[in-house]
Amino acid sequence: MSRVYVFLMFFILCSTSFLSIGQNSEYKINTIVIDAGHGGKDPGAVGKHCYEKNIVLSIALKTGQYIKDNFPHIKIIYTRKTDVFIPLKERPEIANKAKADLFISVHANSLENNTTTSGTETFILGLHKSQDNLAVAMKENSVMLYEDDYTNKYEGFDPKDPASYIIFNLMHSLHIDNSTSMAQHTENQFKNRVGRYSRGVKSAELWVLRKASMPSVLIEVGFISNPKEERFLKSEKGQDYMASGIFRAFRSYKEEIERHSSRTFEVAEETTNSTIEEATEIINEVYYCIQVKSSSKQIPLNAKVFSGLNNVIEKQVNNMYKYSVEQNANLKVVINKKKEIKKLIPDCFIVAYYKGKQIPIKEAKNIQKS
Ligand SMILES: [Zn+2]
Repeated sequence: MSRVYVFLMFFILCSTSFLSIGQNSEYKINTIVIDAGHGGKDPGAVGKHCYEKNIVLSIALKTGQYIKDNFPHIKIIYTRKTDVFIPLKERPEIANKAKADLFISVHANSLENNTTTSGTETFILGLHKSQDNLAVAMKENSVMLYEDDYTNKYEGFDPKDPASYIIFNLMHSLHIDNSTSMAQHTENQFKNRVGRYSRGVKSAELWVLRKASMPSVLIEVGFISNPKEERFLKSEKGQDYMASGIFRAFRSYKEEIERHSSRTFEVAEETTNSTIEEATEIINEVYYCIQVKSSSKQIPLNAKVFSGLNNVIEKQVNNMYKYSVEQNANLKVVINKKKEIKKLIPDCFIVAYYKGKQIPIKEAKNIQKS
């Protein structure tokens, strides 16, 4: 070990302990998970001459290769690299375990008795705004029916029952800004560079996105029920084009969020100090707050995702960073505040804490009563 090396190591160790806030505010993409939909016994959509599972696997692998060639330091994890069945549940779990910075799920569309509809669409998690989006969600979520005890595994969720989606609506979707950005870059690339017809960015209640604790998108690369689009997607060239589109979208997304994080570096420290003081006052009592975000990676408190919010507080719960606002012991006050916060973060929700631990709201109320 050379002297210079020892000195460098010493310097790095010092920096990490003293400059931890600065370190944490660097938001770099290190790991991504690429999820080729379906596989094995689940063919996905069935075209005249191909299966969805094969097309999306090829595009997923090509996308990963482009990213690897251009950003060798980024770790790329595939949920599958071959024609195997992977339960829906496991796909986001792979990403969560790897603390991935981005989850990209690749799918292809189809419509029964329809050979004319075509185009790409990229989904983020959210409320479905049309019956078409609900239909895509139902179709993509239905792969859980391939598993024996899906009712237990998927918390009683029935992918074919519209009522299940009402409960889904009440659940939170996280990372909405970053997911939207990746989705927009993807559709832009498909439309402007690959020359596809883009149906745009959409939101739907997709299980695979809901369970991913990082920015995530589900890309529908086209309709294999349309013979022309099927031909394109089945061809090596078509798959290459689509993969390069996703790669370029990823590159723009990466540049965008990393540029943003370096700009916000300096103010992060001030915000942290003032919020810590306020937080300690109420930490030992029951309090409620509005959770606006959670992430496997630490996010600078003045990041774009928190813009418009005051006194964002960070909490580490089971390897996750949870961000909340409007901490207050009075639940009614927090419920009222939620109406305002909802305008900025539509999927925010109220949580309760006691002695630093997250507890059910009902339990919090009982503690307060006693
Ligand atoms: Zn699919």
